Amino acid sequence: MRQKLVIGNWKMNGNRASNTALLSGIVAGLNDFGADCAVCVPAPYLAQCQAELAGTPVRWGAQDVSIHAGGAYTGEVSAAMLQDFGSTYVLCGHSERRAYHHESNELVAQKTAVALAAGLTPVVCVGESLEQREAGQTEQVICAQLQAVLEAIAPQQIADLVLAYEPVWAIGTGKTATPQIAQDAHRLLRACLAQRHAEAAAGVKILYGGSMKPENAKELMAQPDIDGGLIGGAALKSSDFLGIIQAV
Ligand code: PEP
Repeated sequence: MRQKLVIGNWKMNGNRASNTALLSGIVAGLNDFGADCAVCVPAPYLAQCQAELAGTPVRWGAQDVSIHAGGAYTGEVSAAMLQDFGSTYVLCGHSERRAYHHESNELVAQKTAVALAAGLTPVVCVGESLEQREAGQTEQVICAQLQAVLEAIAPQQIADLVLAYEPVWAIGTGKTATPQIAQDAHRLLRACLAQRHAEAAAGVKILYGGSMKPENAKELMAQPDIDGGLIGGAALKSSDFLGIIQAV
Protein backbone atom coordinates (compact mmCIF):
# COMPACT_ATOMS: atom_id res chain seq x y z
CA MET A 1 0.00 0.00 0.00
CA ARG A 2 1.52 3.31 -1.08
CA GLN A 3 1.37 6.05 1.56
CA LYS A 4 -0.27 9.16 0.10
CA LEU A 5 1.87 12.26 -0.39
CA VAL A 6 0.76 15.86 -0.76
CA ILE A 7 3.34 18.43 -1.92
CA GLY A 8 2.77 22.16 -2.16
CA ASN A 9 4.50 23.99 -5.00
CA TRP A 10 4.73 27.59 -3.88
CA LYS A 11 6.11 28.72 -7.25
CA MET A 12 7.50 32.29 -6.96
CA ASN A 13 5.32 33.33 -4.02
CA GLY A 14 5.88 34.22 -0.39
CA ASN A 15 8.00 36.35 1.86
CA ARG A 16 9.48 35.61 5.26
CA ALA A 17 6.47 36.81 7.21
CA SER A 18 3.81 35.15 5.04
CA ASN A 19 5.86 31.93 4.93
CA THR A 20 5.99 31.76 8.72
CA ALA A 21 2.23 32.22 8.92
CA LEU A 22 1.62 29.56 6.26
CA LEU A 23 4.06 27.01 7.69
CA SER A 24 2.86 27.42 11.25
CA GLY A 25 -0.75 27.11 10.07
CA ILE A 26 0.06 23.85 8.29
CA VAL A 27 1.99 22.42 11.23
CA ALA A 28 -0.72 23.40 13.71
CA GLY A 29 -3.49 21.88 11.59
CA LEU A 30 -1.78 18.60 10.78
CA ASN A 31 -3.41 15.78 12.63
CA ASP A 32 -2.77 12.16 12.11
CA PHE A 33 -4.16 12.35 8.58
CA GLY A 34 -2.12 9.43 7.34
CA ALA A 35 -0.52 11.34 4.48
CA ASP A 36 3.03 12.58 4.08
CA CYS A 37 3.32 16.24 3.22
CA ALA A 38 5.94 18.68 1.99
CA VAL A 39 6.40 22.15 0.53
CA CYS A 40 8.62 23.02 -2.43
CA VAL A 41 9.63 26.62 -1.94
CA PRO A 42 11.74 29.27 -3.72
CA ALA A 43 15.41 28.50 -2.98
CA PRO A 44 16.00 31.56 -0.75
CA TYR A 45 13.43 30.22 1.71
CA LEU A 46 14.95 26.76 2.18
CA ALA A 47 16.86 27.99 5.22
CA GLN A 48 13.61 29.30 6.69
CA CYS A 49 11.94 25.95 6.12
CA GLN A 50 14.84 24.18 7.77
CA ALA A 51 14.59 26.46 10.79
CA GLU A 52 10.80 26.34 11.09
CA LEU A 53 9.98 22.78 9.98
CA ALA A 54 12.77 20.72 11.51
CA GLY A 55 11.21 18.34 14.02
CA THR A 56 7.74 18.57 12.41
CA PRO A 57 6.23 16.00 10.04
CA VAL A 58 6.38 18.49 7.14
CA ARG A 59 9.28 17.98 4.71
CA TRP A 60 10.56 20.64 2.32
CA GLY A 61 12.36 20.97 -0.97
CA ALA A 62 13.08 23.08 -4.03
CA GLN A 63 11.47 23.70 -7.40
CA ASP A 64 14.50 23.14 -9.62
CA VAL A 65 18.12 21.96 -9.51
CA SER A 66 21.18 22.54 -11.65
CA ILE A 67 22.75 19.67 -13.56
CA HIS A 68 26.13 21.08 -12.52
CA ALA A 69 27.89 20.34 -9.25
CA GLY A 70 29.33 23.83 -8.87
CA GLY A 71 31.36 26.58 -10.49
CA ALA A 72 30.68 29.30 -13.04
CA TYR A 73 26.93 28.84 -13.51
CA THR A 74 25.45 32.16 -12.47
CA GLY A 75 22.00 31.89 -10.96
CA GLU A 76 22.02 28.10 -10.64
CA VAL A 77 21.54 26.13 -7.43
CA SER A 78 23.22 22.75 -7.01
CA ALA A 79 21.82 19.56 -5.53
CA ALA A 80 24.45 19.75 -2.76
CA MET A 81 23.18 23.22 -1.82
CA LEU A 82 19.61 21.89 -1.59
CA GLN A 83 20.91 19.10 0.60
CA ASP A 84 22.79 21.57 2.77
CA PHE A 85 19.43 23.05 3.77
CA GLY A 86 17.85 19.72 4.59
CA SER A 87 15.74 19.37 1.43
CA THR A 88 14.01 16.09 0.84
CA TYR A 89 12.38 16.80 -2.53
CA VAL A 90 13.10 18.70 -5.71
CA LEU A 91 10.70 19.26 -8.58
CA CYS A 92 12.19 18.29 -11.94
CA GLY A 93 10.61 19.37 -15.21
CA HIS A 94 7.65 21.35 -13.94
CA SER A 95 5.71 22.48 -17.00
CA GLU A 96 6.48 26.13 -16.23
CA ARG A 97 10.19 25.36 -16.46
CA ARG A 98 9.69 23.31 -19.59
CA ALA A 99 7.71 26.18 -21.16
CA TYR A 100 9.51 29.31 -19.94
CA HIS A 101 13.03 27.94 -19.64
CA HIS A 102 12.86 25.55 -22.59
CA GLU A 103 13.80 22.53 -20.49
CA SER A 104 13.92 19.50 -22.78
CA ASN A 105 13.07 15.94 -21.79
CA GLU A 106 16.80 15.21 -21.80
CA LEU A 107 17.65 18.12 -19.49
CA VAL A 108 14.87 17.10 -17.09
CA ALA A 109 16.27 13.56 -17.16
CA GLN A 110 19.76 14.87 -16.30
CA LYS A 111 18.35 16.92 -13.42
CA THR A 112 16.57 13.84 -12.13
CA ALA A 113 19.77 11.80 -12.23
CA VAL A 114 21.72 14.55 -10.43
CA ALA A 115 19.04 14.82 -7.73
CA LEU A 116 19.07 11.06 -7.17
CA ALA A 117 22.85 10.98 -6.97
CA ALA A 118 22.70 13.61 -4.23
CA GLY A 119 20.16 11.63 -2.21
CA LEU A 120 17.26 13.95 -2.99
CA THR A 121 13.88 12.63 -4.10
CA PRO A 122 13.09 14.06 -7.52
CA VAL A 123 9.44 14.78 -8.24
CA VAL A 124 9.41 14.34 -12.00
CA CYS A 125 6.60 16.31 -13.61
CA VAL A 126 5.06 15.20 -16.89
CA GLY A 127 1.97 16.36 -18.71
CA GLU A 128 0.49 17.25 -22.06
CA SER A 129 -0.70 20.61 -23.36
CA LEU A 130 -4.27 21.20 -24.47
CA GLU A 131 -3.23 21.08 -28.14
CA GLN A 132 -1.48 17.77 -27.59
CA ARG A 133 -4.52 16.32 -25.81
CA GLU A 134 -6.84 17.49 -28.54
CA ALA A 135 -4.53 16.02 -31.16
CA GLY A 136 -4.69 12.63 -29.39
CA GLN A 137 -1.01 12.80 -28.42
CA THR A 138 -1.35 12.57 -24.63
CA GLU A 139 0.02 9.05 -24.25
CA GLN A 140 2.90 9.63 -26.63
CA VAL A 141 3.90 12.91 -24.93
CA ILE A 142 3.84 11.75 -21.33
CA CYS A 143 5.52 8.42 -22.12
CA ALA A 144 8.32 10.23 -24.00
CA GLN A 145 8.81 12.57 -21.04
CA LEU A 146 9.05 9.62 -18.67
CA GLN A 147 11.11 7.48 -21.04
CA ALA A 148 13.87 10.11 -21.21
CA VAL A 149 14.15 9.95 -17.42
CA LEU A 150 14.16 6.16 -17.36
CA GLU A 151 17.01 6.12 -19.86
CA ALA A 152 19.10 8.41 -17.65
CA ILE A 153 18.83 6.38 -14.44
CA ALA A 154 19.46 2.79 -13.39
CA PRO A 155 16.41 0.50 -13.10
CA GLN A 156 16.98 0.12 -9.36
CA GLN A 157 16.71 3.91 -8.94
CA ILE A 158 13.10 3.90 -10.14
CA ALA A 159 11.98 3.10 -6.60
CA ASP A 160 13.44 6.45 -5.46
CA LEU A 161 11.37 8.56 -7.86
CA VAL A 162 8.12 10.39 -7.31
CA LEU A 163 6.17 11.20 -10.48
CA ALA A 164 3.62 13.95 -10.94
CA TYR A 165 1.10 13.87 -13.76
CA GLU A 166 0.25 17.50 -14.39
CA PRO A 167 -1.78 18.16 -17.53
CA VAL A 168 -0.67 21.63 -18.59
CA TRP A 169 -4.24 22.66 -19.40
CA ALA A 170 -5.21 22.03 -15.76
CA ILE A 171 -2.41 23.97 -14.06
CA GLY A 172 -3.59 27.23 -12.55
CA THR A 173 -6.63 27.26 -14.81
CA GLY A 174 -9.30 25.98 -12.42
CA LYS A 175 -9.94 23.12 -14.92
CA THR A 176 -9.21 19.86 -13.13
CA ALA A 177 -8.80 16.61 -15.01
CA THR A 178 -11.69 14.27 -14.30
CA PRO A 179 -10.73 11.41 -11.97
CA GLN A 180 -11.00 9.03 -14.94
CA ILE A 181 -8.73 11.11 -17.20
CA ALA A 182 -6.18 11.37 -14.41
CA GLN A 183 -6.43 7.68 -13.50
CA ASP A 184 -5.92 6.65 -17.16
CA ALA A 185 -2.74 8.74 -17.36
CA HIS A 186 -1.46 7.46 -14.03
CA ARG A 187 -2.09 3.84 -15.00
CA LEU A 188 -0.23 4.39 -18.26
CA LEU A 189 2.74 5.95 -16.46
CA ARG A 190 2.89 3.06 -14.02
CA ALA A 191 2.82 0.61 -16.94
CA CYS A 192 5.78 2.48 -18.52
CA LEU A 193 7.67 2.21 -15.23
CA ALA A 194 6.81 -1.48 -14.98
CA GLN A 195 8.37 -2.21 -18.35
CA ARG A 196 11.68 -1.18 -16.79
CA HIS A 197 11.21 -2.57 -13.25
CA ALA A 198 7.90 -4.18 -12.34
CA GLU A 199 8.47 -4.36 -8.61
CA ALA A 200 9.68 -0.77 -8.26
CA ALA A 201 6.81 0.50 -10.42
CA ALA A 202 4.26 -0.84 -7.97
CA GLY A 203 5.78 1.26 -5.19
CA VAL A 204 6.35 4.56 -7.01
CA LYS A 205 4.07 7.39 -5.93
CA ILE A 206 2.35 9.14 -8.81
CA LEU A 207 0.84 12.48 -7.78
CA TYR A 208 -1.82 14.37 -9.67
CA GLY A 209 -1.40 18.11 -10.15
CA GLY A 210 -3.68 20.65 -11.80
CA SER A 211 -6.17 22.81 -9.94
CA MET A 212 -6.57 20.34 -7.10
CA LYS A 213 -8.55 21.80 -4.20
CA PRO A 214 -10.27 20.46 -1.09
CA GLU A 215 -13.53 20.04 -3.03
CA ASN A 216 -12.15 17.79 -5.77
CA ALA A 217 -9.27 16.10 -3.93
CA LYS A 218 -11.22 13.21 -2.43
CA GLU A 219 -12.52 11.83 -5.70
CA LEU A 220 -9.13 12.16 -7.38
CA MET A 221 -7.26 10.54 -4.49
CA ALA A 222 -9.70 7.65 -4.48
CA GLN A 223 -8.39 6.46 -7.86
CA PRO A 224 -6.20 3.38 -7.56
CA ASP A 225 -3.10 4.89 -9.22
CA ILE A 226 -3.35 8.39 -7.74
CA ASP A 227 -1.07 8.52 -4.74
CA GLY A 228 -1.41 12.14 -3.75
CA GLY A 229 -1.24 15.64 -5.14
CA LEU A 230 1.15 18.33 -6.30
CA ILE A 231 -0.66 21.50 -5.36
CA GLY A 232 -0.02 25.02 -6.64
CA GLY A 233 -2.56 27.72 -5.85
CA ALA A 234 -4.28 25.84 -3.05
CA ALA A 235 -0.93 25.31 -1.28
CA LEU A 236 -0.69 29.02 -0.49
CA LYS A 237 -3.49 28.94 2.08
CA SER A 238 -3.03 26.62 5.04
CA SER A 239 -6.77 25.84 5.27
CA ASP A 240 -6.91 24.75 1.61
CA PHE A 241 -3.69 22.77 1.81
CA LEU A 242 -4.86 21.04 4.99
CA GLY A 243 -8.25 20.44 3.41
CA ILE A 244 -6.56 18.51 0.61
CA ILE A 245 -4.43 16.52 3.04
CA GLN A 246 -7.55 15.74 5.00
CA ALA A 247 -9.31 14.53 1.86
CA VAL A 248 -6.75 11.78 1.62
C1 PEP B 1 1.44 23.25 -10.03
O1 PEP B 1 1.95 24.35 -10.21
O2 PEP B 1 2.16 22.26 -9.95
C2 PEP B 1 -0.01 23.15 -9.92
C3 PEP B 1 -0.58 21.98 -9.90
O3 PEP B 1 -0.70 24.35 -9.84
P1 PEP B 1 -2.27 24.52 -9.52
O4 PEP B 1 -2.61 23.61 -8.38
O5 PEP B 1 -2.41 25.97 -9.17
O6 PEP B 1 -3.01 24.16 -10.77
